[in-house]
Amino acid sequence: MNIKKVSVIGAGLAGCEATYQLAKRGVQVDLYDIKPNQFTPAHSNPNFAEIVCSNSLKSTDLTTASGLLKKELELFDSLILKTGYNNSVPAGNALAVDREKFAEEITKKIKNFKNVNFISKEVTSLPEGVVIIATGPLTTDKFSKNLKEIFNTDSLHFYDASSPIIEASSIDMNIAFVKDRYDKGSGDYINCPMTKEEYLNFYNQLISANRVELKDFEKKDIFEGCMPIEIMAKRGPDSIRFGPLKPVGLDNPVTKQKYYAVVQLRKEDNINNLYNMVGFQTNLTFPEQKRVFSLIPGLANANFVKYGVMHRNTYINAPKLIDKTFQLKQNSNVFVAGQLSGVEGYIESTMSGLICGINAYKLINNQPLINLSSNTMTGAIINYITTCDTKRFQPMNANFGIISPLPEKERDDKIKKQKIVDRAIDEIKQLKLNIGD
Ligand SMILES: Cc1cc2nc3c(=O)[nH]c(=O)nc-3n(C[C@H](O)[C@H](O)[C@H](O)COP(=O)(O)OP(=O)(O)OC[C@H]3O[C@@H](n4cnc5c(N)ncnc54)[C@H](O)[C@@H]3O)c2cc1C
Repeated sequence: MNIKKVSVIGAGLAGCEATYQLAKRGVQVDLYDIKPNQFTPAHSNPNFAEIVCSNSLKSTDLTTASGLLKKELELFDSLILKTGYNNSVPAGNALAVDREKFAEEITKKIKNFKNVNFISKEVTSLPEGVVIIATGPLTTDKFSKNLKEIFNTDSLHFYDASSPIIEASSIDMNIAFVKDRYDKGSGDYINCPMTKEEYLNFYNQLISANRVELKDFEKKDIFEGCMPIEIMAKRGPDSIRFGPLKPVGLDNPVTKQKYYAVVQLRKEDNINNLYNMVGFQTNLTFPEQKRVFSLIPGLANANFVKYGVMHRNTYINAPKLIDKTFQLKQNSNVFVAGQLSGVEGYIESTMSGLICGINAYKLINNQPLINLSSNTMTGAIINYITTCDTKRFQPMNANFGIISPLPEKERDDKIKKQKIVDRAIDEIKQLKLNIGD
């Protein structure tokens, strides 16, 4: 291939990271954004890489999933991460940034590259050649409409209404039990049984818990598609007991006891590490989800690797459309990065932009593209979004439930996490050595 130019659409977190990875390697980049003349409903800063909500990029503690992902990005010389550290504000173990200064510094750094040509316009169709699409969760309507045709599928979603996901090892199996309704199935469900008293206690907390305020631009889309569990519950004390918490066909397999209500958890991945709370789409705040859902018998110490969310979010059905390199299966010249690719979160979006940038560079230089294993947090997220069930796909963030388990058993959680971290760092260092990066 003779082209040494790449078009990046969207100068958000993913687009800026991709641009930086390309530009510093000498590639000519055409970077497009609707800014500063136009804005999505959540953006207002004319600078690039605008952080639209919380200014926290989460924990820097290496033994947290988010801390490990940051370390991996640091090893790859991430622009977003180093600019984050340059503009950090005190936030304990978390990396929080002064969003104005952060966006200003990134914009300056990107514009300083002589080989980056910034074009302010709304992209509505794909430019020629190698392209990275990074237009984010609020991709403009016109482009979204055309993306549906470009992807030749109905696999473009416009909002995310997903239930919480729980790490299997944190479910108390002395209380919960494995059973499919009427024993029809292959043991895909874990059931959390409730007595009447437990149910009513849970119910009363659920209907009075704090909810996230939806933005004006989100209200119509989201509730047309899906009803949150707490809203369904407000219809009356029996509403969810005759809905998602229906106990019929779920008697205890050993004691044969019948229950007043049952919360079902369904396998979320192929290695039985993660379980999804069936029918628990919710708009409760994250601390309230932790508090209220921990009242469910068996979930007192549950580790929620992802809380339920209901928000406006444009994203693709990743397992259907993209490879582990972030290239479209049907057109390897097109990469999809950021929240649009099916990852969730600031740092996760940055990670996908970084991998797309490096891989687009490798593509135009006829070099093998990089592909990290699930021993790393980067590789684990990519593996999850590209291999999970297409029918149940929902965006994913960094968490230890998706990373490959250690080959040996390790009881001490701290030592276990440290070993996982060391293994991930070694793999990335080795990869960088192998590719001479
Ligand atoms: C309201 C809201 C709040 C969020 N809060 C958080 C949070 O607190 N923490 C967290 O971790 N994640 C949060 N997210 C999720 C996600 O991490 C961020 O949206 C993140 O900025 C995504 O990065 P990105 O690069 O994919 O997209 P963005 O950062 O949104 O960048 C996309 C860029 O593309 C441009 N663009 C869009 N359409 C076009 C077009 N047709 N042509 C040219 N340019 C275009 C936009 O102007 C924008 O600059 C939130 C998302 C939303 C929508």
